[in-house]
Amino acid sequence: MGKALIIGAGGVAGVVVHKCCQVPDVFEEICIASRTVSKCDALKEKLDGGRTKIQTAQVDADNVEELVELINRFQPDIVINVALPYQDLTIMDACLATGVDYVDTANYEPLDEAKFEYSWQWAYREKFEKAGITALLGSGFDPGVTGVFSAHAQKHHFDEIHTIDIVDANAGDHGYPFATNFNPEINIREITANGSYFENGEFIETPPLSIKRVYDLPEIGPKDVYLLHHEELESLALNIKGIKKIRFWMTFSENYLNHLKVLENVGMTAIEPIIFEGKEIVPLQFLKAILPDPSSLGPRTIGKTNIGCIFQGIKDGKEKTYYVYNVCDHQECYAEVGSQAISYTTGVPAMIGAMLVMTGKWKNPGVHNIEEFNPDPFMDALNKYGLPWQESFDPKLID
Ligand code: NDP
Repeated sequence: MGKALIIGAGGVAGVVVHKCCQVPDVFEEICIASRTVSKCDALKEKLDGGRTKIQTAQVDADNVEELVELINRFQPDIVINVALPYQDLTIMDACLATGVDYVDTANYEPLDEAKFEYSWQWAYREKFEKAGITALLGSGFDPGVTGVFSAHAQKHHFDEIHTIDIVDANAGDHGYPFATNFNPEINIREITANGSYFENGEFIETPPLSIKRVYDLPEIGPKDVYLLHHEELESLALNIKGIKKIRFWMTFSENYLNHLKVLENVGMTAIEPIIFEGKEIVPLQFLKAILPDPSSLGPRTIGKTNIGCIFQGIKDGKEKTYYVYNVCDHQECYAEVGSQAISYTTGVPAMIGAMLVMTGKWKNPGVHNIEEFNPDPFMDALNKYGLPWQESFDPKLID
């Protein structure tokens, strides 16, 4: 079928590469590129020898010219951006310059501001339409599968959806006193920002981690979850017709929150640069450098994740509740692809999104969030490629 350029060689990229190699009819050739080519080579070494041909390249994805040069050399059908959110716009610019489709898993963020909003990428809509190329935004788990679940609920279960509660629970244990499951900088920026939820046409801000619930979740049991802002709220509020309320909930243990509080109180989570011994450093980037590398957590993490969406609304004149979720086991992921479930649950949907664009099923010139596409082939692919989903009509909120 074709070629994919994968930008990034971290936790998520490792899973994307493994998964692309499991679908060699679609991904005949891939190129893995990041600033540190040795990380790309290490991935290639693990997977070489299968039907998917693998190349590696060095690229600084902050630099549009370097990207354009690489794209012109490799001639991919799609670029899968699993670098960091800071690179989204430069990679989109390079895709525009070369006429290549684009997929990512996180919205663009400027380095100096944690915003979690789509405005910068939505501003490319017309340019992508005119160029006849597709940008699929947010094809990870959340955003990503949560948007596909929402489109599925809208298409198959409801006449009107009134509320969506996205519940992201990780019951994994890596044995460290404190570590983040994906890029610590992105993770901590997300958690220390104000929370917010969508209600009746507007976003209501809440102080960080100030609203808590307890859900009894299938296969992992009762869990404390906290309301956070999350980027998919913005697109779901536009794309799910008639929606009245959307909230995003994530689990944190008391231990995790205590560590985070201390780090925050001493200024280690700040994103404004400070001068240290004559050099400018960003405290959060320094913290990232001393925390365990998320890609090293795989062998030590045990337990499961459960991520899903609870919908309430109306079907055939009656009130209805529908819960659709995936449970993923950290150790099973590690045995399959050498990463824990957080990277796995992001990397599998990134591969699926890219596959659907490449095979033409999701080809739609413009810039689109994932819930704008037909959810059916994605839901089928989740079952086939390692993230099977389950449903219930009776989710349990304890408190
Ligand atoms: P990692 O930090 O493990 O990896 C990031 C990779 O990006 C590294 O290999 C790094 O390599 C590369 N990179 C960084 N800057 C550049 C650059 N300027 N040019 C080229 N490559 C660069 O992160 P993760 O794998 O954990 O996360 C990847 C993405 O997935 C992030 O955007 C994250 O927000 C997103 N994500 C999405 C989720 C979802 O459910 N939607 C959940 C989890 C993550 P090098 O330094 O060598 O360049």
